[in-house]
Amino acid sequence: MEWSRLDTVVCDIDGVVVIGDQSVPGARAALEKLRAAGLTVLFITNNSTKTREMVADRIDRIVGYRTGAATIITSGWATGLFIKGEVSCAYVLGSDGLRATLRETGVAQTSDWQEADAVVVGLDFEVTYRKLVEAALAVQNGARLYATNTDASYPSPEGLYPGAGALVSVIETATGTEAVPCGKPNPPMRQLLDDFVAGPAMMVGDRPETDIALGKAEGWVTALVLTGVTRTLREVDASYAPDMVLDSIAGLPERLGL
Ligand SMILES: [Mg+2]
Repeated sequence: MEWSRLDTVVCDIDGVVVIGDQSVPGARAALEKLRAAGLTVLFITNNSTKTREMVADRIDRIVGYRTGAATIITSGWATGLFIKGEVSCAYVLGSDGLRATLRETGVAQTSDWQEADAVVVGLDFEVTYRKLVEAALAVQNGARLYATNTDASYPSPEGLYPGAGALVSVIETATGTEAVPCGKPNPPMRQLLDDFVAGPAMMVGDRPETDIALGKAEGWVTALVLTGVTRTLREVDASYAPDMVLDSIAGLPERLGL
């Protein structure tokens, strides 16, 4: 692959440019160098807790890299665009940011599980047993089950927190119903990418089964960074083998000859 012919770099966020509320060292300089070289830098996240605007602000605040909502692709947004024509009213187990994102995409919502014809599950830092009960009841009542993403965990400086996938599993286990996954590397997320990425692209991520899988499915060059959930290449299943391994995104410009 001729690196000089890339025109887009698509970066995962958690574990790649930020860890919890800290920047990955050198992330800002690397991103600015990519942009200065004329590359389009996009961010794609399975984290559904925030709106696109909130994600752009978070990158600005933590990393110090200024960008706008137009460069941000989230699993919540992909979920909303995917289900808006298919469902009339969703029960949401997720954050306020997910609710706002679904509103932006035109998905009506209800807090009454009996009215819902869809259940959307995302990461919810305020999950309660009652919310899990209501989501499960809605599914038993015939509502379709969607997962913004199925990431098992969420990296923090303390270690791995349970991710949206862990919450989705609770509903799946209780109801015997499998959720439709909407985030990386699944079709609802991939359908969006045609509008963002035209030419040769690179995917930079820390999670092989979502980030590297997405990059491979799209035919992009893939780079695995070791600042997030993956600590060594030995942990990576052969089917997700990346084209490039980097200790950190800080080293990417040099690897691209920039
Ligand atoms: Mg990540």
